[in-house]
Amino acid sequence: MTDSRAGQASQTAIEDAGNAFPEDGNPAVAPPPGTRTVAEVVTPELVARLTGAVTGSGSTASHTPFTGARLAALPESTPEDVAAAFGRARAAQPSWAATPLRERAAVLLRFHDLLLSRQSEVLDLVQSETGKARLHAHEEVLSVASAARHYGRKAPAYLGARRRTGVIPLLTRVTEVRRPCGVVGQIAPWNYPLELSVGDALPAFAAGNAVVMKPDTETALTALWARELMLEAGLPEGIWQVVLGEGPVVGPAVVAHADYVSFTGSTRTGREIARSAGARLVGCSLELGGKNAMLVLRDADLDRAVAGAIRGCFASAGQLCISMERLYVDESVAEEFLDRFAERTRGLRLGAGLAYGADMGSLVSERQLATVRRHVEEARAGGARLLAGGRHRPDVGPLFHEPTILDGVEESMAVHAEETFGPVVSVYRFRTEEEAVERANATAYGLNASVWTRDGRRGRAIAERLRAGTVNVNESYAAAYGSVAAPMGGLGDSGLGRRHGREGIAKYTEAQTVAQQRLLPLGPAFGLDDARYARLMSRGMRAMKALRIR
Ligand code: NAD
Repeated sequence: MTDSRAGQASQTAIEDAGNAFPEDGNPAVAPPPGTRTVAEVVTPELVARLTGAVTGSGSTASHTPFTGARLAALPESTPEDVAAAFGRARAAQPSWAATPLRERAAVLLRFHDLLLSRQSEVLDLVQSETGKARLHAHEEVLSVASAARHYGRKAPAYLGARRRTGVIPLLTRVTEVRRPCGVVGQIAPWNYPLELSVGDALPAFAAGNAVVMKPDTETALTALWARELMLEAGLPEGIWQVVLGEGPVVGPAVVAHADYVSFTGSTRTGREIARSAGARLVGCSLELGGKNAMLVLRDADLDRAVAGAIRGCFASAGQLCISMERLYVDESVAEEFLDRFAERTRGLRLGAGLAYGADMGSLVSERQLATVRRHVEEARAGGARLLAGGRHRPDVGPLFHEPTILDGVEESMAVHAEETFGPVVSVYRFRTEEEAVERANATAYGLNASVWTRDGRRGRAIAERLRAGTVNVNESYAAAYGSVAAPMGGLGDSGLGRRHGREGIAKYTEAQTVAQQRLLPLGPAFGLDDARYARLMSRGMRAMKALRIR
């Protein structure tokens, strides 16, 4: 049974007792009168209805970061429960795979409409479970709706059978077909509970797979709500199974049964999953951590760059794999940029209500808060300067921390190279673009990067020299991530495989080539001896090259 968040949060609150609201700290905003509370939204009836879909015989619980209070009692799955969930998914999958591709895709389009019209329900849940600001929760609605529209429209083109050139054109008829992997095991983290649950499952469903999903326990209600909506949109009951529990127990059980593993989470866990999937010879995609760099060139529009840095560094309180944790600024504009960035950062409003209005919400757990505090305190002790923030803010909620800018960070400090996964950015000055690119690339990660310049061509040229799976020019992360027709994923320690675009759905399939030979056999025939056959075929090869046959 897990009850760590509440206990740890209250312990933090005790440690910080007497910490008055700092006069020069970020302002806190209350939600408008009449805003529903977490308790009014997450009712026992709602929890009972949603958790009925979990295969689990034990019990666990989730908590809301806004207060640390218990949010929901949840079933917990044993490895036997996981096996049973896979059994049900396997039984349901063949008839789903036999459903015409266009009908499967149509489920996604209906889901798109349902999601947009019922978004306030899920915004309440995402906020209650993660503590993020409502605007940041809304980004999840937008990205999931985009993926539903994209795969709803494009899955038939991505996955439909395709004719290929045969070994002897016209005489060899070749078709490439895409078969679903079978049952996908999906393991998701807590930071984007809608996007990283249903958002990543949509292409798997469209491709004809069943999914056994293990969301993070703390954010399970959002995934269960999305499942209910998918059933309403027409997904057959058995196709999406949900299991819950401790990652090191339930996660390996999911990997042990899956025909393909879709994982999003830390690099450390990703390596374990890669080892287990490799031992079973099943494929996996791994969307892992990052230490992303933003480059502000001397010709950048500084107002836009400041606004981009605010969103890029502090969206979801920095608990975003593609957020910016390293900010490289051309020294000729650094003072002006940093003055404006720090001033805007100090004015960001913190808030814990289920309404729009707060600029930043809470951290999700005591573990995240501890990492943020360790990184900030160690840097300060080593001589780094705070340009903004730096404080834990229990006056707003037990897990709130101010958006923080650090200057003078040394390579020896943890915050320099380790992923903080919180609202903390380190700033560095550079003299030449060469130096900026080299320093941005000096990391084992390679997830996302951002370049700010008035010269789009120059920005795109620099982007190609950055070692990152996505690079945004004059945007922090949303331009690339939101462009769901194009692949998104990481290099190096940031992972393997891609979500979005053709690759994001093809990964959930196995390619099968069906080749039918007609009229002429592929060997000596019609009285040709071996030597004459070989000469004839060699001539044929030359002719095919001359005729530009591919
Ligand atoms: P985590 O690796 O601790 O947990 C992720 C999921 O894996 C959870 O569901 C967890 O229960 C499960 N898990 C834990 N141990 C496991 C094991 N041994 N076997 C199988 N499953 C296990 O990561 P987290 O702290 O929850 O998430 C934060 C990390 O996720 C950050 O590093 C962040 O950068 C990364 N992330 C990456 C992306 C991306 O798209 N690249 C997106 C979001 C988050």
